Amino acid sequence: MTGASSGIGAATAQALAAAGATVAIAARRADRLAVLADKLRAGGTTVLAVELDVTDEEADRAAVRRVVQELGGLDILVNNAGLMLLGKIVGADTTDWTRMINTNVLGLMFLTHAALPHLLERKGHLIQMSSVAGRTARMGSGAYNASKWAVNAFSESLRQEVTERGVRVTLIEPGAVDTELRDHITDPAAKKVAVERAANMRTLTSEDIANAVVYAVSQPDHVAINEILVRPTDQQ
Ligand code: NDP
Repeated sequence: MTGASSGIGAATAQALAAAGATVAIAARRADRLAVLADKLRAGGTTVLAVELDVTDEEADRAAVRRVVQELGGLDILVNNAGLMLLGKIVGADTTDWTRMINTNVLGLMFLTHAALPHLLERKGHLIQMSSVAGRTARMGSGAYNASKWAVNAFSESLRQEVTERGVRVTLIEPGAVDTELRDHITDPAAKKVAVERAANMRTLTSEDIANAVVYAVSQPDHVAINEILVRPTDQQ
C-alpha cells in the first residue's frame, strides 16, 4: 500500500487489515507510518512499514523485494501515492509538473513493473488510484489530468496484457475526498478554488474509497472489477 501515511492510503491499509490482510505500508514520512503500524499491530495485524519515495526506481524495486522476503509474497499492490498540484497551464511552475508526473505516473509504473512477476506468480491484484480527473479534464487541472489520464491508459493496456494470466487490474477513480491532498497545492489561487470547492460539498471520506478497494479485491477469481468511479453525491 503506497501513500499509506495519510488519507486514502492510511484508511485503505486499515480496511484491508480489518478484512484479514497482512499489510506493507509505504510512504516518505516514516513517523506517520510508525504510528499506523503500531495501531494495526495492536489490532493483531502483521505489518511491514517501508520508508519509500516512489519516484526512486531502485527504491521501488528494493521495497517490493523486501515485502516478498519479509512477508512471504505479494498478492495485492495498491498504487495510491500521489500529488494534486493544481493550477493553470499558462505560466505554470513546471517543477509541479515534474513532481506530479514522477510520482503519479512514473512511480506507479516502476512499482507495477517491479511487482508484476509476483502478481503473475500468485494471480494477484493491482489497484491503481486514479481520479475523476483521469476521466474528465477541467481548466486549472491540466497537468494533474494528464497524470491520471496516463494512469488510466497504462492500466488498461496492462489489464489486456495480464487478465488471461489471472492478474486483475482495477482503477479506482474518486471524486473529492477529504484528505491532505489539497494542502500541497503550490499555486495560491488554485489552492483557494480547490479548498472552497471541497468546503461547499459533502465530500467523500477516505473510508468511502477504502470500501471500494476492499470490494474490488474481495470478488471471486472469475470477477474482475475493472473500474470504480465514486463521486460525492454533491459533486457535478
Ligand atoms: P494525501 O495527501 O492525504 O495522501 C497522499 C499520500 O501519497 C501520502 O501518504 C504521501 O505520503 C504519499 N506520497 C506523495 N508523494 C510520495 C512519494 N514521492 N513517495 C511516496 N509516497 C508519496 O492525499 P489522498 O489520500 O487524497 O491521495 C491519495 C491518492 O488518491 C492520490 O493518488 C490522489 O491523486 C488520489 N485521489 C485523491 C482525491 C481526493 O479528493 N483526495 C480524489 C481523487 C484521487 P508522504 O508524503 O509521507 O510520502
